[in-house]
Amino acid sequence: MISPEQKMDLLVSLCKRRGFIYPDSEIYGGFANAWDYGPYGIELKNNIRDAWWQRFVHEREDIVGVDTPIIQHPKVWEASGHLQNFSDPLVECKKCHHRFRADHLLEAKQAEPGYDKERPVDLKDLRCPKCGGEFTDVKMFQQMLKTSVGVTEDTSAIAYLRPEAAGGMFTAWKNVRDSMRKKIPFGIAQLGKVFRNEITPGNFIFRTREFELMEIEYFIHPDQADQVFEMWLKEQKAWVKEILQIKSDHVVFRDLDEKERAFYSKRSIDTEYLGPFGQKEFQGLANRTDWDLSRQQEFSGEDLRWLDQEKKERFLPHVIEPTWGLTRTLLFVLIEHLDIDEADTSEEGEKEPRMVLRLPPRLAPVKAAILPLQKKDGLSELGQTITQTLRKSGFTVEYDEGGSIGKRYRRQDEIGTPFCFTVDYQTKEDKTVTVRDRDSMSQERIQIVELADWLKNHINS
Ligand SMILES: [Zn+2]
Repeated sequence: MISPEQKMDLLVSLCKRRGFIYPDSEIYGGFANAWDYGPYGIELKNNIRDAWWQRFVHEREDIVGVDTPIIQHPKVWEASGHLQNFSDPLVECKKCHHRFRADHLLEAKQAEPGYDKERPVDLKDLRCPKCGGEFTDVKMFQQMLKTSVGVTEDTSAIAYLRPEAAGGMFTAWKNVRDSMRKKIPFGIAQLGKVFRNEITPGNFIFRTREFELMEIEYFIHPDQADQVFEMWLKEQKAWVKEILQIKSDHVVFRDLDEKERAFYSKRSIDTEYLGPFGQKEFQGLANRTDWDLSRQQEFSGEDLRWLDQEKKERFLPHVIEPTWGLTRTLLFVLIEHLDIDEADTSEEGEKEPRMVLRLPPRLAPVKAAILPLQKKDGLSELGQTITQTLRKSGFTVEYDEGGSIGKRYRRQDEIGTPFCFTVDYQTKEDKTVTVRDRDSMSQERIQIVELADWLKNHINS
């Protein structure tokens, strides 16, 4: 059996070896909590992102998209409460001066085997994980990353990198309300990079300083809150099942109790994945009431209410907010679909794990690989022609003529390519190729002229 730690190690090395995710700034010894997405990583990330935009923006009448800046007016974060409240308890080792999140250390201590769960952890119990040294007292530490805009570095020029995508949707609310002919309930969607000054190293790409969120602020009449909350919970469950194809017993939809929720939230449900490093959140759903709009209204002095023309009623909309962590989703999709078979042997006769990424075809970075059996006798040219035709039809495909056919299949299995098209001598005679299915390993022959349609049907099924 492969342990969860081994599986994580294998995934991290596969991601580097096959061009999904690399340690950032590696030539300088790396940079804490920073990673590069390689050629296949960016394709996978874009595919998840595009599937989300397609499903929640393009396929719906009641949602529109926006794209607001990463650096907004600092007042936005004053109104949202981030400037005052978005900070973490920090301790510093007196010996080696490494800094840690006190809450993370306490959580880890509580989870240690044999630790008395009833007894609250005292900060005095904690020792530095690096050197065993004692800690200083807790200091609060602002999680928003600060920058300065303009030519001088005085305090009037201080701005922040957004810690969430929501802020921009609340400031854009007035213009969307006035320019789009939508009726409440309707939502605004935004996705993109957000920034938090994380100091705790975080399980591969799980916790990083910059990461990507996909968020919807869904504006409603307060009477609709419960019904709309349920609708979004259903949508989030369907997304996990149909698009990510994560098994239902690997996911928990957890109702947060009052202590865990933001003080303005009436109800919150986190979607948590049961992964190799514990049960971890990657989606969230919250009833934020009218907290955000009332605060932005107060700080800006603008009237942000909605006018219901029919009922002649003016009210401040409440908000239901479903959030998806794009980069965390990518990590859990990789973990979920990485299939490791340790019984297989390599060509050199050594035992080594055989890895297959059984990604849903729609999310796979490469949809099909075109592999000529030989370079000679015109098979190469035939394969290249098929490749070009499929590329022009909009498919991400790969052409590979190097090495044995078995090795080429193995490589495609490791990057999650669902189909391989093999060009052989029969191709020259009857204009067909062999299709090899990654998961069933079945083989069938298909006419070259039908390949594009065949691929389209099989990616979306
Ligand atoms: Zn230390």
